[in-house]
Amino acid sequence: MYLYKKVADLQLHLQREKKAYRSIGFVPTMGALHEGHLSLIEAAKAQADVVVCSIFVNPTQFNDTKDLEKYPRDVPADMQELIKVENDVLFVPEVSEVYPAGLDTSLNLDLQGLDEVMEGAFRPGHFDGMTQVVWRLLSIVQPDYLFMGQKDFQQLTIVRRMLTELNSAIELVSCPIRREADGLAMSSRNRRLSPEERSIAPVISQILEQVKEKANDTANLGELSQWASQQLVQAGFRPDYFSIVDGKHLQEVPGMDSADFIVACTAAWLGEIRLIDNLILKP
Ligand code: AMP
Repeated sequence: MYLYKKVADLQLHLQREKKAYRSIGFVPTMGALHEGHLSLIEAAKAQADVVVCSIFVNPTQFNDTKDLEKYPRDVPADMQELIKVENDVLFVPEVSEVYPAGLDTSLNLDLQGLDEVMEGAFRPGHFDGMTQVVWRLLSIVQPDYLFMGQKDFQQLTIVRRMLTELNSAIELVSCPIRREADGLAMSSRNRRLSPEERSIAPVISQILEQVKEKANDTANLGELSQWASQQLVQAGFRPDYFSIVDGKHLQEVPGMDSADFIVACTAAWLGEIRLIDNLILKP
């Protein structure tokens, strides 16, 4: 595996690959890699000739400085995992490489309200930072394919909108959520859960499954969301939201007939850790 820290060095490598007509697949991450991330690398390997993974904990997308400071970082361990799955190129830039002084990397997108609901309502500025870093990394790597997880469903929807708005030819590939055996969606933040919190955490996916079972027999999905929030509270979570939304526009829907694509999305705190998860109710 090749490791680059500088944009210029990475680009020199990728220019050679592009001249040889090799397609590039890109997997951006913030590190502390788990099987969910590695499944993205595998999907990328199946579709592209060369796979580039980046590890960059992007400061501009953290609205909470404590969360940024505590975000787990372990690049040597990540490198071992990436070598095991035969990732081709790893890019680990410093903040000054991604945001060099004097370069305006801000974007002015019309996200059509996609960034105002759910995560956007609870993490002000998060999606501005997320779109800024994804677009900046895409401008550096210039891949053919971008691989992202359905785990961050709203992020995926917003990146899709960004690529459309910026007339990008990059193909966005959505990868399914990897879960632990007990259903907990894999996340870098899970390693910060106490043993007791870890035993409660899978309830979030169990409630999503129950919502899926009940959804077709429910006239009012708003009431079902309220019921799910109450279940989360009873289990010891502090939910930020539980929303059943149209998967394209991210607006809440009243019933299963209201849209072709419906997703239940939730974010809830367990102690100091904020977990997010979602389940497609109508594909
Ligand atoms: P992160 O390092 O959290 O920024 O995540 C990097 C990428 O991995 C994003 O596209 C996430 O959606 C994806 N990802 C994170 N967790 C999972 C998971 N459990 N299953 C599949 N993809 C995931």
